[in-house]
Amino acid sequence: MNIHEYQGKAVLKKFGVPVAHGLPAFTVDEAVAAAEELGGPVWVVKAQIHAGGRGKGGGVKVVKSIDEVRSEAERMLGMTLVTHQTGPDGKTVHRIYVEEGSSISRELYLSCLVDRETSRIAFIASTEGGMDIEQVAHDTPEKIFTMTIDPATGICPHHVRSMSKALKLEAGQPKQLGSMLNGIYKAVTGTDMSLLEINPLVVTGDGDLLCLDAKVNFDSNALYRHPEIEELHDETEEDPKELEASKYDLSYIALDGTIGCMVNGAGLAMATMDIIKLYGEEPANFLDVGGGATTEKVTAAFKIITSDPQVKGILVNIFGGIMRCDVIAQGVIAAVREVGLEVPLVVRLEGTNVEKGKKIIEDSGLNVIAADDLDDAAQKVVKAVGEAA
Ligand code: ADP
Ligand code: MG
Repeated sequence: MNIHEYQGKAVLKKFGVPVAHGLPAFTVDEAVAAAEELGGPVWVVKAQIHAGGRGKGGGVKVVKSIDEVRSEAERMLGMTLVTHQTGPDGKTVHRIYVEEGSSISRELYLSCLVDRETSRIAFIASTEGGMDIEQVAHDTPEKIFTMTIDPATGICPHHVRSMSKALKLEAGQPKQLGSMLNGIYKAVTGTDMSLLEINPLVVTGDGDLLCLDAKVNFDSNALYRHPEIEELHDETEEDPKELEASKYDLSYIALDGTIGCMVNGAGLAMATMDIIKLYGEEPANFLDVGGGATTEKVTAAFKIITSDPQVKGILVNIFGGIMRCDVIAQGVIAAVREVGLEVPLVVRLEGTNVEKGKKIIEDSGLNVIAADDLDDAAQKVVKAVGEAA
């Protein structure tokens, strides 16, 4: 689960990590009041969306008067912000963050994440802050410093010394970095973050370390342990189809293609997507209805798939193991009757009660294309979409 920058900073602050002062705002008046409370003389107005690269897209503005805070707030609230991370459609800005402007003498990069390869928490740092870190890693990999932390010892003085050297810190900064790394480590492990990225971490004009940006991602499987974090969830940032799917406990991910897929089991869902691609089309989604799908779940899944205007054909591919094919067939028929069917539908059933299932579909009189195996199903749906186009 992602949260907004201002929320991430509030979490960091709780763990003693230095962040710039700021206040969130949902309206222009709130933004002006926030700016007055902060006092200036320099403010930064920042669009809050779950994507980076806001600066380049016009979502981060340094201003020097309350009037400018007002005009920037007016401009940003409600705007569609397009960055290299939002995709071409961009994201609507519903809230902004008004922050104290900070003097910057250097911009550094610091992130902390769960490294699956070493099964440890890893820190990544670079002197090249404020830029696209993927680009830095690609062009100048020697400028990326990585270290992993032994869970038995936590952060040790040698970690701080090596990172301070890599970041070319001086004077009292290594000491500040030590306390910052300890705070970050506690924040990451204490709230089950999977990623924390501070880009940039700056050295201010006074020589102090300060976090100016915060991207935070939590492990969704651990959210039950952190109700206060779960409350930060901003539903407006999510694909409405994915949100609807989560209500029915369906694993759904929207994709860019034209063939809607309804499959049981993540492995079979992946294989279905692969074979659609093999025959020259692209899947419109990943959807795993799970092992024990009910008619209600199947109907919900069907509605989500058909609500996507990009879907030009649907492939239902179900293996009835625990689940019986006749139940699936009934679910599909009920769903089609309820939401209608405007695109070709190919159904491939296999497993328990497959004959019963096929018969239910046949007898329904609905325009469903039956398929025998995965290969046949994929070819049929690709062909049907091609003919319909
Ligand atoms: P994004 O990564 O989405 O572009 P950032 O929060 O990193 O957004 O802001 C972009 C740039 O704006 C930063 O690299 C920094 O140079 C500047 N900036 C952000 N916040 C402040 C601040 N409080 N004071 C001064 N400059 C800031
Ligand atoms: Mg940034």
